Amino acid sequence: MSDITPLDKVGEFGLIHRIQNTITLQQPSTVLGIGDDAAVIAPAANHDVVVSTDMLVEGVHFDLTFCPLKHVGYKAVAVNVSDIAAMNATPTQIVVSISIGARFSVEAIEELYEGMRLACEAYNVDLVGGDTTASRGGLTINITALGQVEHGKAVRRSGAGPNDLICVTGDLGGAFLGLQVLEREKQAWQADPETQPELSKYPYVLQRQLRPEARMDIIHELRDLGVVPTSMIDISDGLASETLHLCQASGTGARIFSENLPIANPTLEVAEEFNLDPIMCMLNGGEDYELLFTVPLSAHDKLKNHPDITIIGHMIDKSEGANLITKAGQPVPLRAQGWQHF
Ligand code: ADP
Ligand code: MG
Repeated sequence: MSDITPLDKVGEFGLIHRIQNTITLQQPSTVLGIGDDAAVIAPAANHDVVVSTDMLVEGVHFDLTFCPLKHVGYKAVAVNVSDIAAMNATPTQIVVSISIGARFSVEAIEELYEGMRLACEAYNVDLVGGDTTASRGGLTINITALGQVEHGKAVRRSGAGPNDLICVTGDLGGAFLGLQVLEREKQAWQADPETQPELSKYPYVLQRQLRPEARMDIIHELRDLGVVPTSMIDISDGLASETLHLCQASGTGARIFSENLPIANPTLEVAEEFNLDPIMCMLNGGEDYELLFTVPLSAHDKLKNHPDITIIGHMIDKSEGANLITKAGQPVPLRAQGWQHF
């Protein structure tokens, strides 16, 4: 049995002190981290500061019955880094605010921070501050991420033109199918607590759901290739919804070819097992945190053989609408069926 220390034994300051002790700073732009009234950051000359924030609520965004706190911490940082990446910026610092229900122990919160620490290390980001409060309910985590990009080089959703190529990184649908597996096993377990969850058969989709990565690697590669996206967004709600966001912001239509959509074999197998249409999983699944971006036609040759970037279609005049083109050549209007909060 691991140790269980009640939060009231160390108190708010004791907890912050413990968190502070595990943190090392690695960013040259961090002047001052945790411990004062505010952190101090020195942005590089000629750079813009990019800011994004995300709130994760227990029971809404994560379920601790099947998601270990360490993974929640890692994912919370990764999804914030993903937003910074989607601006073509480099993440530099995060601040983390948490409100904690009485059922959490000091060790549980340390698990959460261990996940965040691993992600900070992976993305070269400093945790420079936050806030800690009690909660009457569960756990809420709010992370604000800061990043930097050369002055004027942030990539918005609004820069795509007709004929630009639409590209996506990695593969799609995995995170959604991972969630289906977890929810099925949770239901089986609730019906009969003696059953052992069947998770070892699904390493790929579970990893996609529980431990997504922000595609900072692609941001660096595009820079090395000299390819500047005309518009970009990260896929949190699903390909269809995010494509519509780019179209709306850019004033374009889009054609996406179902045959070109990237799916991994393990994802395809789970879709078949659950009797779900793989195309629907890719379009509407969400939480893959891949990047969706457009590039000028002239970038085609530089990207066409990239192992981790797929050209899935192209922008078109707004009057043509945003369509999925089926294998049979039929246009089907894209619809945002991503996660609706309200
Ligand atoms: P204040 O009363 O000024 O809000 P706090 O006691 O809340 O100060 O915070 C003291 C220091 O600890 C600050 O640097 C703050 O950023 C940091 N801090 C507080 N809570 C957290 C947390 N959950 N994670 C990381 N840093 C935190
Ligand atoms: Mg405070």
